[in-house]
Amino acid sequence: MNRPTHGWLGAALLMGGIGALLWLERTRPLRTPSEPRVRRMARNAAVGVVTAAAVSAIERPIVTRLSVLAAARAWGIVPRLSLPGPLRALAALALMDYTLYWWHVLLHRVPMMWRLHEPHHADRDLDVSTALRFHFAEFLASVPWRCAQIVLIGVGPRTLSLWQKLTFAEVLFHHSNVRLPRSLEAKLSRYVVTPRMHGIHHSVARDERDSNFSSALTLWDTLHGTARVDMHRDEVTIGLPDFRADVVVTLRKTLTLPFHTEKKK
Ligand SMILES: [Zn+2]
Repeated sequence: MNRPTHGWLGAALLMGGIGALLWLERTRPLRTPSEPRVRRMARNAAVGVVTAAAVSAIERPIVTRLSVLAAARAWGIVPRLSLPGPLRALAALALMDYTLYWWHVLLHRVPMMWRLHEPHHADRDLDVSTALRFHFAEFLASVPWRCAQIVLIGVGPRTLSLWQKLTFAEVLFHHSNVRLPRSLEAKLSRYVVTPRMHGIHHSVARDERDSNFSSALTLWDTLHGTARVDMHRDEVTIGLPDFRADVVVTLRKTLTLPFHTEKKK
């Protein structure tokens, strides 16, 4: 398959997936929204557009070139593993996911880094649009981390591109406000992050927020004792204690949040 066809197919799959999640959010919602849906989604999409522009202008050119170099020079751990090609790619994907877990833990535990991640958690509802609501400063700050991942793990451009696509699909899914059958979700969450599980990570309660850091495989939370799978609970108060009022969740406040020095209230 040539590259343009590949690109169109990928875009069609992505649009189809987002459409399916939006439809399921309307027909089988998990949590009751606290804000008007359209206004919130428009705000989150605007945050996402700014971040997408920063990513395509700055992150993509750097990490793609670095991954080409990493593949050409056989840098990193994975090329040294005596495994067949497909298993090497799987090992690289798993290690990228594991190191993303640690990046997410740091975003929560280091106060300066939390400021970059705070706009994502300040959303008072959680749905597929929250998956687009990452501040551009958080993504730009992650560029050196991403470079270190590529060099130390040894990730070539094809594996990097596959990891980006799979992670984005999983991030859309676990942020969605879709009510899956509880038994299905309990089984799924043994392997991958699910909407109820990630809902706990977006709780206003600090102890709940400091759990479920995994982005795709739940193995990392299980391994480090940060997993929290209270499947009996559907209603979680989403957001942050300092961001309950309309006035503090506007688009302007969201985009300037990491640069504020005064108290948010
Ligand atoms: Zn988080």
